[in-house]
Amino acid sequence: MDEQEEMQEKLKNMSPEELRKFQKEQCIFCHIISGKVQSKKIYEDEKCLAILDINPANPGHILLLPKEHYAIMPQIPDDILGHMSMLTKALSSACLKAFKASGTNIFIANGIVAGQKAQHFMIHIIPRMEKDNLNFTLSENSTNETDRIQLKQILTKKINEIFGLKPEKEEEPQAKQETIQPSTKEEQKKETNLDKISEKIQSPKPKKKSKKSLEKKKEIKKKSPKKTKKTKRANLDDIAKLFT
Ligand SMILES: [Zn+2]
Repeated sequence: MDEQEEMQEKLKNMSPEELRKFQKEQCIFCHIISGKVQSKKIYEDEKCLAILDINPANPGHILLLPKEHYAIMPQIPDDILGHMSMLTKALSSACLKAFKASGTNIFIANGIVAGQKAQHFMIHIIPRMEKDNLNFTLSENSTNETDRIQLKQILTKKINEIFGLKPEKEEEPQAKQETIQPSTKEEQKKETNLDKISEKIQSPKPKKKSKKSLEKKKEIKKKSPKKTKKTKRANLDDIAKLFT
């Protein structure tokens, strides 16, 4: 039995708790969080830590980590993930202001096949400048209506299960009219919501929309400066000062 086989055997026999402990011991980011390994911390609270990536895609590339060790997104409790979303928004805003960046890419590699290199879940926040030669363009493959209907059915079935929603009638060619004219307002609302989720999963929209939404965000921030100062953003404004 070679070393690798021995390790696999050892891992098989571990209880979930032992496995978690083992993963933590092996995880460089857990060591960064505990302070055993140095890093350039830019934000920290009781749940999360944000550091500069040591091998950045662009200068100012931020890694946002939950302090607890989670390997992939589905393992993370909702409150922590919600908190991470709020921080992502604020850190992205800090990048835009501090670096006068033209935009940011928010990136999650969920699983090895998706390009995940570390065992610790993280959100990448990458400042973008005009002509920075970073390529984040998603390929745009063509699909047909039948495939999209099938994908929608598979996904909405699972989404309904996850949210405990009542299953909808399967979308057949005849059923289409029913979904266009739902009988009650509630049904109409539900249909729209699920369509939105499904559409988002199916087709991330190209540049134009993200530019618009960035502009919208900027406008919202300009219109309500008091609101942003009250929350944790105040700390992030301090972080932004560190960069200038
Ligand atoms: Zn870890």
